[in-house]
Amino acid sequence: REPILEVKNVKKYFPVSAGVFKKPLQVKAVDDVSFTMYKGETLGLVGESGCGKSTLGRTIVRLYEPTDGEIIFKGNDISHLSSHKLKYLRQQMQLIFQDPYSSLNPRMNVNSIVGEAMLTHKMVKKGPEYEDRVVEIVEKCGLAAYHVNRYPHQFSGGQRQRIGVARALALNPEFIVADEPVSALDVSVQSQVLNMMNSLKDEFGLSYLFISHDLSVVKHISDRIGVMYLGSLVELTNKEALYEKPLHPYTKALLAAIPEPDPTKIKKMEAIKGEIPSNINTPSGCKFHTRCPYMKDICKEEVPEFRELEEDHFVACHFAGEI
Ligand code: SF4
Ligand code: MG
Repeated sequence: REPILEVKNVKKYFPVSAGVFKKPLQVKAVDDVSFTMYKGETLGLVGESGCGKSTLGRTIVRLYEPTDGEIIFKGNDISHLSSHKLKYLRQQMQLIFQDPYSSLNPRMNVNSIVGEAMLTHKMVKKGPEYEDRVVEIVEKCGLAAYHVNRYPHQFSGGQRQRIGVARALALNPEFIVADEPVSALDVSVQSQVLNMMNSLKDEFGLSYLFISHDLSVVKHISDRIGVMYLGSLVELTNKEALYEKPLHPYTKALLAAIPEPDPTKIKKMEAIKGEIPSNINTPSGCKFHTRCPYMKDICKEEVPEFRELEEDHFVACHFAGEI
């Protein structure tokens, strides 16, 4: 396996106003996350809303600068690139957004939406070659050639996300962060878009970091899956191991909360108790200790190390493997 991305102890903190006389506060949106991604894989990232998965995705493609830690892309440290060098990076790393309605300019037709970045990056000049290239990408994303003259409002939600994918592919990137790309779509359309993304991945040699709060979507598309809780990665392994043998109590609780499709099987519900704590005053030690049914004294004091407990199975829990 050839690494394409290495995330090392990455933190992204945002300052928040606490009032004039108080000590400044920070939201620890991403708090010491480390993992490696390999060429050609789809890594799913799941967790409840506010767990930091979108911030992590945006930090990786350098829409944000990390507060600390390193982001190594194809062997190069991109953590603190200048804006000039970031422009070059944009060609290789793209972001697909959740909401194709708001991320597409309503006054631009598909031809301009998909082709704009190619012109900006001087990949082609306006002319027949440009026209051909736009049509080729649009068709690969399941739209028809005549669609290039239409505007976003003339398309369905699923078609608009196809345009979003086409726009991301126009620069011929190697790495795509897809942030909830099908969450705004009807369930019937979701699998069509996911299947399209899967075949484009093979054809273009892409790697995806696929962010979603929906475990069934992530299961459909991912090779490996990472689970985040309050800014931390708590478990990471291949899809089979995660669903069949989860090691972290939070992952177990998340999986238990998925409705059982077969009503004849009665599944024991192990609901997660309590509210998610604030990510300003995060709990000490293991951040999950305020909700964990297996919590012991050490959990309040010591941050559990994110360790490879079994081959290719990483987990951050003092008692993983024993519970
Ligand atoms: Fe639960 Fe302790 Fe493991 Fe945290 S470290 S998940 S509190 S058992
Ligand atoms: Mg989000």
